[in-house]
Amino acid sequence: MRKIIFWATLIFFGTTIIAGLIPSRVDAKTRFVTVGTGGITGVYYPTGGAISKMINKKRKKYGIRCTVESTAGSVFNVNAVMAGDLDFGIVQSDRQYQAIHGMAEWKAAGPQKDLRAVFSIHPEAVTLVAAEDAGIKTIKDLRGKRVNIGNPGSGQRQNSIDALSAAGIDYKKDLHAEQVKASEAAGLLQDGRIDAFFYTVGHPSGAIKEATAGNRKVGIVPITDTTTLLDRYPYYAPAAIPVKFYPGAINDKDVPTFGVKATFVTSSKVPDEIVYAITKEVFENLDQFKKLHPAYEVLTAKGMLQGLSAPIHPGAMKYYREKGLLK
Ligand code: GLU
Repeated sequence: MRKIIFWATLIFFGTTIIAGLIPSRVDAKTRFVTVGTGGITGVYYPTGGAISKMINKKRKKYGIRCTVESTAGSVFNVNAVMAGDLDFGIVQSDRQYQAIHGMAEWKAAGPQKDLRAVFSIHPEAVTLVAAEDAGIKTIKDLRGKRVNIGNPGSGQRQNSIDALSAAGIDYKKDLHAEQVKASEAAGLLQDGRIDAFFYTVGHPSGAIKEATAGNRKVGIVPITDTTTLLDRYPYYAPAAIPVKFYPGAINDKDVPTFGVKATFVTSSKVPDEIVYAITKEVFENLDQFKKLHPAYEVLTAKGMLQGLSAPIHPGAMKYYREKGLLK
């Protein structure tokens, strides 16, 4: 009996020690990371999905499991990443700029010092959608109308306010401003409960498809009074919305407007190896990534380093240096 106990003990401790000496990937703890996106009929939501897909494919190698959350949008994402509730967020380039400089929604809280840029993604256009029967041909025609400017927490809310004020319209006094999510706005427009809505989004987007595909005739309205905006704000650039994506819209040619870029951000507190792994997987598989959404058609590795105003996260920087993309 004593012999059996002796051998059993030896075998038990022996295997435990040996197992401890073999580096085992299976034992490596899986790290769960979450990406904050936007409404499910926007482009952030599928973008979060596309990024997750790239990293989750290599789960055995990195031990990272990435999931996506639908959120209120850019401003919410910055705040949730800063609070540590999300590890990554998709955020408009103008919102990234404002957060790092303590402007707009961050005026009271001050600069969001821990915000870190990873890369930029697709272009986003400030998109004004209006019902034909409301007689809205230019942004100036929004006076007195019922207009969704965007929910608090969204990126588009400030873009709508900027576009309106450049056209001499005070959203508080000169129109009936609604502040619902873009995912609800398309339905409200079709139901005749609003006349128009703004959405800063990549194209094609489910929300604009839904808005232009119903019984009520709907079009995308050009925003051309942008000189003061472009002069005043470094983050705005001219943009055009391709109408080919919206066959139901009354437009017959591409629509001029202004826009920003979607960017991928994180916090300085997120470990370098996680940011490095995600950056590497997206960049090394860019051709495959670009196939995941038509809005990514224009992406290039160099272009994805433009539009960033927060410091680049060291994990991403490591990859860019290795590849000679940045010094
Ligand atoms: N640009 C919008 C925002 O920041 C979101 C657009 C989208 O979900 O594609 O709130």
